Amino acid sequence: MSLGRTILLKMADSEFLNRQATQRSFVKRATRRFMPGEAPEDALRAAQMLKAEGRGTVFTKLGEAITVRADAEAVRDHYLWFFDQLAASGLDGHVSVKPTQLGLDLSYDQCLEHLMVLAARSEAIGKTFWIDMEGFVYVDPTLKLYRALKAKHHNVGLALQAYLYRTQADLEALMPLRPIIRLVKGAYAEPSSVAFPVKADTNRSYFDLSDRMLQAAAAGQCTPILGTHDIPLLDRLVARAKAHGTPDRGYEIHMLYGIRDADQRRLRSEGRTVKTLISYGSAWYKWYMRRLAERPANVWFVVRSLLG
Ligand SMILES: Cc1cc2nc3c(=O)[nH]c(=O)nc-3n(C[C@H](O)[C@H](O)[C@H](O)COP(=O)(O)OP(=O)(O)OC[C@H]3O[C@@H](n4cnc5c(N)ncnc54)[C@H](O)[C@@H]3O)c2cc1C
Repeated sequence: MSLGRTILLKMADSEFLNRQATQRSFVKRATRRFMPGEAPEDALRAAQMLKAEGRGTVFTKLGEAITVRADAEAVRDHYLWFFDQLAASGLDGHVSVKPTQLGLDLSYDQCLEHLMVLAARSEAIGKTFWIDMEGFVYVDPTLKLYRALKAKHHNVGLALQAYLYRTQADLEALMPLRPIIRLVKGAYAEPSSVAFPVKADTNRSYFDLSDRMLQAAAAGQCTPILGTHDIPLLDRLVARAKAHGTPDRGYEIHMLYGIRDADQRRLRSEGRTVKTLISYGSAWYKWYMRRLAERPANVWFVVRSLLG
């Protein structure tokens, strides 16, 4: 892992920097590159623009590591309200949540209860309900949550991280469930005991896991979502999908708002199903630091915002 990435991911865990950054208007301005605004209405408005280009949306309210029961309940209630907005909007829009945002650190059972309520509501309005994957310590409980949810609701998707050595085995174990999987490279600072320390190995793992999913998708056994901005890798995988006979609608490409936007449009115009993940909310500090860590050159955007 590069030094810049390591430092930025360490900074993501600092409560002091969190308080400082969220009070500074120039940092707030710099976040606009990756999120249309803090209000859910900002996110919905941006999604309408993407809809005009044929792109769908996945929404997430920023926040994680909730440690107060009432806060987790408030997040659940927020999403119930948000599902009503989605149902009325006519958008091809879906929701993605983090288990720790719904109280996984407090109680597995309560977190599952909240997720069940949300998955049921999402299913009722015909949307896929997404579970993000967080740091390594949460992988086992998150897989357990996914199995419990998938047993009751077919429309639930899970993120898996290609940088973890264990992901190949996790994917195989999930295959009998006909899973909906968003494969990402992985955004957290993990030790080399659990994750590939060298980027080229993560990229190789990403290709192999995606290839396996695309092959399974051709037989209707899996719905793969390629969650990456790595265009050469995506181009190779689109070719693999064709070679496997995976139908165009049998897999999707998801990217983050504000990143590789021209490529998102190009892929859509070439017939791919493309969805853009839009984040909103005021708890953006940790999430924003992970975006900077993915591409330390992004720090210059913050500096430029500081200069006005
Ligand atoms: C839809 C979606 C959902 C995600 N969900 C999760 C999740 O649940 N758990 C998790 O751990 N991670 C998640 N991530 C983040 C992911 O793990 C990576 O950290 C992130 O996508 C960067 O990796 P990459 O695949 O784009 O490849 P990289 O090799 O990092 O990047 C490829 C190219 O994309 C561009 N790029 C990538 N990131 C940035 C950036 N921040 N700013 C500007 N340009 C950039 C650059 O041009 C770069 O060269 C998600 C990502 C996406 C797209």
